[in-house]
Amino acid sequence: MSSLQAQQGNSTQEASHQDTQSLNILTLFPDAVTPYFNIGVTGRAIDRKVIDLHCVNFRDYAEGNYKAVDDLPFGGGAGMVIQAEPVARALDDLVEKGRNLGTVIMMAPTGKVFTQADAERLSQKSALTFICGRYEGIDARLNIEYVNEVFSIGDYILSGGELAAMVMIDAIARLKPGVLNNAESATYESHSAKSGALLEHPHYTRPATWRGHSVPSVLMSGHHARIQTWRREESLKTTARVRPELLENIDLTPEERSMIEQIRRGE
Ligand code: SAM
Repeated sequence: MSSLQAQQGNSTQEASHQDTQSLNILTLFPDAVTPYFNIGVTGRAIDRKVIDLHCVNFRDYAEGNYKAVDDLPFGGGAGMVIQAEPVARALDDLVEKGRNLGTVIMMAPTGKVFTQADAERLSQKSALTFICGRYEGIDARLNIEYVNEVFSIGDYILSGGELAAMVMIDAIARLKPGVLNNAESATYESHSAKSGALLEHPHYTRPATWRGHSVPSVLMSGHHARIQTWRREESLKTTARVRPELLENIDLTPEERSMIEQIRRGE
């Protein structure tokens, strides 16, 4: 257990899903983060007190006139590294002010890649704290003392962890009960556990014919069972074409298996 977790006692216990989830973001650019969350789904989550978002600029915890947070890397090389101490002080101050840090997450390209399964798991936590790096990243010793999980949002390099943390928070917040007006839409989506982690079928709305393209007739049939079968098949076809590796752990009927074989053979 890290020293911070010891200080927090049992405050990292999981919340019942009706509780407000505390989300803390440590960043050098709070102004880049807060406006996004005040709109749309996350804005609604804040208004309904489903999430409680708190942004901290860890530069405020740096010393000296210039409030520098970065320094040269030991061992040489390009770029600057953020020092552990200002970030640690910002985390300690949050705890002293009575905020629950919960699971502390470092945003880094070296982390495990964030998935919908992680979003589902993390949406059950009472509190999450996201640390956003800049430059070459943050002194690795911060992870030993404070960090519970390290996440990447994909195999590419961003200039900072803010967008990555925002992606994660958006994906997590929309899963909280009472955030989406139609809870079903978060339950059955691409990558969701309830959808068998498949990609979703295509969607259509009015008009029934648009620029010569008609909506598949089954969707106009009103026949619920046939519509469900069509949606499952389309979901499997899209997954087989675009993300075949997702099918590896899916239970398929013999008919579905032969349909996917045909797609693989390009028939
Ligand atoms: N030197 C680092 C490397 O090669 O792994 C990249 C540092 S990056 C320019 C600066 C910061 O952006 C990182 O500390 C991290 O917080 C964030 N970041 C960049 N790409 C990311 C990604 N794919 N997922 C999550 N965070 C990312």
